[in-house]
Amino acid sequence: MPGRILDGKKIGAAIRADAAEAAREFARSGRPPGLAVVLVGDDPASAIYVRGKIKASREAGIASETHRLAATTTASELGGLLDRLNRDEAVDAILLQLPLPDGLDASEFLARIRPEKDVDGFHPENVGRLVAGLPGPCPCTPAGIMEMFRREGIQVKGSRAVVVGRSDIVGKPLALLLLHQHATVTVCHSRTRDLPAVCREADILCTAIGRPAMVGADAIREGAVVVDVGMNRAETEEQVRDFFGDDDRRLARFRRNGYTLVGDVHPVAMRERSSAYTPVPGGVGPLTIAMLLANTVALAVARQSAG
Ligand code: NDP
Repeated sequence: MPGRILDGKKIGAAIRADAAEAAREFARSGRPPGLAVVLVGDDPASAIYVRGKIKASREAGIASETHRLAATTTASELGGLLDRLNRDEAVDAILLQLPLPDGLDASEFLARIRPEKDVDGFHPENVGRLVAGLPGPCPCTPAGIMEMFRREGIQVKGSRAVVVGRSDIVGKPLALLLLHQHATVTVCHSRTRDLPAVCREADILCTAIGRPAMVGADAIREGAVVVDVGMNRAETEEQVRDFFGDDDRRLARFRRNGYTLVGDVHPVAMRERSSAYTPVPGGVGPLTIAMLLANTVALAVARQSAG
């Protein structure tokens, strides 16, 4: 029997509705929660992501502003802007959109954001809090996945979880969150020997790799929950047919746009072997934006109660 779809759009909408309610509640104190997004350079994908984040935050009643800086911005200009936002009382949350143009070191500027305003949870202090299991902002994609497990009643405690990918923004924090929820966690990466064999041990298999449909049926235990974070492009008709069979909607999308999105897991294998799975698109992506809103409101509330 095909696996149940974990509908990120629906779950994301519920998280956003809760964030909007919390934002309304916060606004009774005199002002709405405030989010500042900093976009440096002209990476087209980043511009699209930022537009989506701003639109979603406004819909949730968050006062959001975008600061666009040229690709030629110097380290001292970017640092100066972050310092101003750190001091601005109406700004509760600061998001520095990555990647930064060459010559600007992301880790330096992520550490410049005050930890209490670090909406992505990338500041070293917040990374430490996550490792120690202390409250604080968590990176949005892994936090969204954990929230999805909670809302969908997926049992994490005691499960065998395998995370493929060890990036600072997805793989590592997700592994820690699963561990804190009492899963037994294995983290895989490009040097892992016999990846399918390790993946087959998973009750919960999470992939954040960035390789189109790389994980096949031989890596999925029958009945596993599969969370596919990857967002890759299938760019030839042969790939589209290999990944999606004769799915007319996918072929139409490919012919219209010149590509269609595919995750890290082969879509047919995922559907046929899992008990539940996140589709691509419409799975993890909408959860990420929803958690940005939830994190923003949580930071506003925490700053307010800290006085
Ligand atoms: P990174 O490139 O930072 O990390 C990729 C990880 O995958 C690395 O740890 C790498 O291992 C591992 N890897 C690469 N090739 C293999 C392989 N052949 N076998 C096993 N492991 C491998 O990527 P991100 O974590 O930033 O993103 C991963 C994917 O998730 C991308 O497709 C990205 O677009 C997507 N994404 C989606 C989001 C969403 O909201 N839906 C949000 C964030 C990311 P090693 O460390 O050894 O190099």
